[in-house]
Order: sequence, then C-alpha cells, then structure tokens
Amino acid sequence: MTAATVTTPSSPHVMNTYGRLPIALSHGQGCRVWDVNGKEYLDALGGIAVNTLGHNHPQLVPALQDQLTKLIHTSNYYHIPLQEDLAKLLVERSGMSNVFFCSTGLEANEAALKLARKFGHDKGIERPEVVVYEKAFHGRSIATLSATGNPKVQAGFGPLVEGFIRVPVNNIAALKAATEGNPNVVAVFFEAIQGEGGVNPMHMDYLRDVRALCDQRDWLLMIDEVQCGMGRTGKWFAHQWAGIKPDVMPLAKGLGSGVPVGAVVVGPKAATIFQPGNHGSTFGGNPLSMRAGVETIRIMEAEGLLANAEKVGAHLKAGLEAALKAEIANGGVKEVRGQGLMMGVDLSKPCGALVQRAADAGLLISVTADSVVRLVPPLILSVAEADEIVAILAPLIAAFLKETA
Ligand SMILES: *Cc1c(COP(=O)(O)O)cnc(C)c1O
Repeated sequence: MTAATVTTPSSPHVMNTYGRLPIALSHGQGCRVWDVNGKEYLDALGGIAVNTLGHNHPQLVPALQDQLTKLIHTSNYYHIPLQEDLAKLLVERSGMSNVFFCSTGLEANEAALKLARKFGHDKGIERPEVVVYEKAFHGRSIATLSATGNPKVQAGFGPLVEGFIRVPVNNIAALKAATEGNPNVVAVFFEAIQGEGGVNPMHMDYLRDVRALCDQRDWLLMIDEVQCGMGRTGKWFAHQWAGIKPDVMPLAKGLGSGVPVGAVVVGPKAATIFQPGNHGSTFGGNPLSMRAGVETIRIMEAEGLLANAEKVGAHLKAGLEAALKAEIANGGVKEVRGQGLMMGVDLSKPCGALVQRAADAGLLISVTADSVVRLVPPLILSVAEADEIVAILAPLIAAFLKETA
C-alpha cells in the first residue's frame, strides 16, 4: 500500500477526552483486529479487559443477532427473565446471593458506595466512611473519582465527595491504625488486583485478614472486580484465590464480552439494603445486555476459558521473564506480575512511547501508571499467540530501555 492511500483518522466533532493513537480499527476475528488501512494487529489489550471472547465469536454473534430480533430493551417496570438467568449464573459462580444490573464499571461502583452508605444509615451512622486505597481506580463519576487514589483523575473536579479514608495496599496494620476508634467506618473497598494503578495484586493473606477484620467490626467487604473478575485470573473472581467472599462485588468490563454490562453482586449482608425506590438504572439489565452476559458465561465454560486463562497466562509470564532476563537482572524491568491473563511489566521508567511502537509492530497493548505495560488480552488467547506477544514485545522493551538509558 502506498503512503498516499493510508488514512490517518481524526475526529473533529468528538470531544477531546482521550489521548488516542492514530489508528481506527475496522474489524476483528479471534484475537486479531485490522485497521481501516488493512494493517493487522494481535490484540493484547482486548478493549481494556472487555473482549473476553475476542472478536466475531462464532457463538456469541448469532446469539446477539437472535436477541436483536426479539427485544433489545424494555424497562425495569417489568420482569426481565434474562436478568434472572444471568443473576443465577453469577450467584452460583460467586457463592453470593443477589445481583443488581447496570451498564458500566463506575455505575456498579456507585451502587456499591450507595449500598455502603445506606448500610451505615440503617445502623444509625449519619456520616458513614469507606476505606479506599492508594493507587485505586474505581471510575470517573464524582463519587468514584473521589474513591480513586490517583490525583491526575481527580485534578480539576473538586470538591471531592467526602467520607473516604485512604490507606496503602497490603498493610493490615495501616488499615487498623487508620480506622482505630472510628465508629463511622462502614466498608472497605478495593480491587483484588489493581488495574489502572499498575497491575498490583492484593496479597492472599491480606485479603483474608481484611475479611476477618470486616467480620469483627461489622463492615462490608467490597471488592471491585470490574477489571480482574470474570475469569481473567483463571478463577471466576480474583478474590477466590484467597478462599474468601466479599459482601459486595462490582463487575463490568469482561461480563458482556463487549456489550456494556455492569453488575453488583452481593452476599446476604448486603442483599436487602436497597428497597424499591433506592436505586435504579434505565439501561441496566436490558435484554440485549443480559443475553450477552449469559452467552459469555456459557461460552466461557463450554470452551474452558478459565483454565485457558490460567495456563496461557502462566506461559505468557514465563515467556516474558525468560525473554527479558537481562533487563530484569539489570533493573530495567522491575517485575513481571499479575495472574492469568492480567499481566503487568513494570519498567524502571515511564514508557508510554511503547504503545505506538507496539502498534507499529502489529501488537495492541496499553501502558498504565506511567511505567507498566499492561496485557489484558481476550481469554481465548492461545499459547502460540502468547509466544507472539513475547516475540514482539520483549525486543521493543529491551530496545526502549537501551536507548533511554
Ligand atoms: C475500568 C474500571 C472501572 C470503571 O469502569 P467504566 O466502565 O469505565 O466506568 C472501575 N473499576 C475498575 C477496577 C476498573 O478497571
């Protein structure tokens, strides 16, 4: 293709809220996508941990086409049987008890925060406070950006919502000290593996200690699994590796394999806090989105995608560690971390430039927390595709570290 025929996309009428790459994608198949100029990419970003089943999945697409001809949307004025179907699937897989449906991650987290506040009010706590974490990301509404532990997300949007206490991750002593003698605490709220914050896992011991503390103090344990949930780590939900259950679990991203679906799954302690009139969402739980969620879970099970995420994720991690051995030894790469197909390569310096370089080389990735290359591909990724990610990415990282040394 000659340079003259290559289209560089622009969006003059769309509000300028994203630092976009000069790429417009036109279609995809499996873990591959093609741009409007016909260039092929291996998709290691999966729409930011959204495209669970990859692109143009042969079972998902016909199911959605079937649903389009029946009902796209009704209203929560009526029962929506597909909501009950998806709720049952989520309840069985989480061991929890009930579900509220919405459309996005921040909306799920807003519902969680409202649950925490009403849990407090129901107990006579007038000014409930929620413990949140450094480097957390919970969304971009006013309440969820207030819960987020990133000054860049908050800058320009004050006054922030009050009622949050911030603590460092994986430090039970700090959590106890920050809440000592405070009768207004109602909940502890965190991601089992921080996504936007740089792929930072909560330690298994810490998860168990926080669960015990929440039981002791009658707090809600609220685990944001919007990014790390839905099979990404090799279990349905990342906290399940620690053998615990939260009281409140927001979900979104991978739940509809690309169709917007959000959910708040709750256990018995939070199941009856909301009563009719307390909360709602016009689009939440509509038939199209519910069908996407139901089919996503069924297809994941039929194809063994939890086991695949665990196996291919471990292979990817080992491959990256082997290919980046020299860079790990000399400190250019601090760590390859994560679980299943949620992987971060933590570099010693800001590396946002790698995103374009990887795209040029035919690989879609992201860089988060300035210096962490994040890989959250579709859960259908094969071992061969994982090898391809390593073969493209590792030399790019090595070259970048060398030239910026
Ligand atoms: C992406 C994300 C959100 C926000 O989800 P949106 O759908 O963009 O509102 C919230 N929490 C976590 C952990 C996320 O990764």
